[in-house]
Amino acid sequence: MTGHPLESVSHTGFEKFVQIRRHLHQYPELSNEEFETTKAIRGWLAEAGIRIVEAGLATGVIAEVGGVRPGPVIAIRADIDALPVQEETGLSYASRIPGKMHACGHDFHTASLLGAAYALKERESELQGTVRFVFQPAEEKAKGARQVLDSGVLDGVQAIFGLHNKPDLPVGTIGIKSGPLMAAADGFVVEVDGKGSHAAVPEAGLDPIVTAAHIITALQSIVSRNVSALQSAVISVTQLHSGTAWNVIPEKAVLEGTIRTFDEQVRAQVLERFSQVVDGVTSALGTSGGVRWIEGPPPVINDEALAQLGLEAAAAAGLEAVVPVPSPAGEDFAVYQREIPGLFVFMGTAGTQEWHHPAFTLDEAAIPASIRFWTELADIALKQLASGGGEQP
Ligand SMILES: [Zn+2]
Ligand SMILES: [Zn+2]
Repeated sequence: MTGHPLESVSHTGFEKFVQIRRHLHQYPELSNEEFETTKAIRGWLAEAGIRIVEAGLATGVIAEVGGVRPGPVIAIRADIDALPVQEETGLSYASRIPGKMHACGHDFHTASLLGAAYALKERESELQGTVRFVFQPAEEKAKGARQVLDSGVLDGVQAIFGLHNKPDLPVGTIGIKSGPLMAAADGFVVEVDGKGSHAAVPEAGLDPIVTAAHIITALQSIVSRNVSALQSAVISVTQLHSGTAWNVIPEKAVLEGTIRTFDEQVRAQVLERFSQVVDGVTSALGTSGGVRWIEGPPPVINDEALAQLGLEAAAAAGLEAVVPVPSPAGEDFAVYQREIPGLFVFMGTAGTQEWHHPAFTLDEAAIPASIRFWTELADIALKQLASGGGEQP
């Protein structure tokens, strides 16, 4: 076992990273407000003598290990932000900030990446290249990845890796697949403008509520009639606001919701049909309307060669690799993957609730598993990329 990454990790001790995760869990901060979290991460990196790369980010930290021996540069990313959720886990280390919670497990991602940075720092002189650690802000608002890319700290990075905890996978398993893994998550706001009138005299007005109802019904035909049976998409209308009184036809109705797709072509097709449905229904019913898009992250699409490296690293780390079911949730890791070949994986955490639930939990035994995976993957990826560009391992 001499020189094995596991050895150096156990030497450092996993307990520290469990404590780090619990500290982060108690003091969650929302997207782009991660000031204390940023300070704490800087402190933990400094304790181990890990170089911080100044990126000019208001929140978030970039650090680096390696460069003693020449070689490629890879990046591993963890997100650090929490959610506006009131925690209901009853844990001794539950959130101490009312209305804020690490309900997506980004505290676990951060602690695991710190563990990997510590482990790789201990064997820095052996690394064939450089590993850059990205502690990214504002994932939940799908803004942070863009902020990191715009800072320029990933220029020259040849591959980027990220993980998300997965409550429905047991600890010791890891979900790895090439191709689509998570959805593009776009939002929409539809405003229907009618003409108000007395509810008893509808012919004097143009009813936006009837139009909104027809729009909602017609939208159901997009997934069922326009998207191929071999592709998938979700359209959910989640808000409908209109009216103020039982006897008044209102002036306006507003619908909001989200569209999830796993393929850029399907995404473009669904968005186009959506606009056509809104235009067609409003004009047929004499009202007017428009769609405002809230563009979310693109789909997470994994690089095939990097997925192979992920499988090798999983085996080296003693994890059982499974083929995960793609998730219709969005993830701004996809923004990196548009510019840098990337691999995003699901780490089994045996949670009792899904992401964003007030009682969301995870099994901390997944922290050592994640640290082992990152350490093995960094080693394997640097060697592979150094020896030939990372095509087929
Ligand atoms: Zn989330
Ligand atoms: Zn998340």
